[in-house]
Amino acid sequence: MATIGFLGLGNMGRPMALNLVKAGHEVIGFDLSPEACEASRAVGLTVAGDADVAVRKADIVVTMLPAGKHVLDAYSGRMNLLSKAARGTLFIDCSTIDIASARAASEAASSAGMLAVDAPVSGGVGGAAAGTLTFMVGGSADAFARAKPVLEAMGKKIVHCGGAGNGQAAKICNNMLLGISMIGVGEAFVLARKLGLSDQALFDVASTSSGQCWSLNTYCPVPGPVPTSPANRDYAPGFAADLMLKDLKLSQQAAQGSGAVTPLGAAAAQLYELFAAQGHGGLDFSAIVTFLNGTPGKAPR
Ligand code: NAD
Repeated sequence: MATIGFLGLGNMGRPMALNLVKAGHEVIGFDLSPEACEASRAVGLTVAGDADVAVRKADIVVTMLPAGKHVLDAYSGRMNLLSKAARGTLFIDCSTIDIASARAASEAASSAGMLAVDAPVSGGVGGAAAGTLTFMVGGSADAFARAKPVLEAMGKKIVHCGGAGNGQAAKICNNMLLGISMIGVGEAFVLARKLGLSDQALFDVASTSSGQCWSLNTYCPVPGPVPTSPANRDYAPGFAADLMLKDLKLSQQAAQGSGAVTPLGAAAAQLYELFAAQGHGGLDFSAIVTFLNGTPGKAPR
């Protein structure tokens, strides 16, 4: 069992750190926010008063932070944890961040004599609590081999996607596809209603025909056909529209940097931006159907 420093004890990090403790690891957490530290102590996590203490004795350092600048700040910037950890420590960044920052973090780690992987997740807060996350991992074969057993304590599927940054690449490609497909499903329901078709009739046909996809079959954006989808609980997330917007922006940044042509990804980013600007970014991302329906924030009736 390993000694693990865990930075970022927010909505995702806290339950992930708890699953590492349940698997028998010694976990020392740290967060810049006193509220996050307090909430973590309340669920039984050990929380250090300063980041150096969390990493000094660690074999492995896990980060679950908002964006690339926070990860670089922790690795080699203001916190400079790469200079505080023992040589050979494995750094696992589970945050969703831009690919350039992920590759810069990995390079800084190897220059400091550390191993590193980017390992963003899919599965949301529910998956983090249940230990059923999917991890998309970028890094060397050696780093992946060391990271895998630790990630298995927090997830059920661990995929090695290639070298540094490729975990982030897989994550934003998947989420660009998800944002586009959710808008497509929403448009189909809006049109069907205008044509006098019931939601259930469209669902019964499309969910077993060529229009089927996860956004329809598992996460249907209108209330009724899939009782477990957020549409049935006033679009409480789930996966918030603000987080979808973040990932769509990352996908467009990557598309511009790499020369990929992604017009539907660009349109999806614009629609989610408008929806968030109307004050609905805290709703589940499937609520984009309410924007398309002209009733932003309210389930189509
Ligand atoms: P959150 O805002 O709840 O938690 C982030 C935490 O990081 C905060 O508590 C913040 O205080 C802390 N933090 C920031 N800089 C720090 C530093 N230098 N050292 C220590 N702590 C620091 O966010 P979250 O929902 O837990 O998401 C974390 C990451 O996971 C994000 O990159 C997000 O895109 C990704 N993600 C979230 C979800 C989800 O459903 N919430 C799903 C998949 C991926």
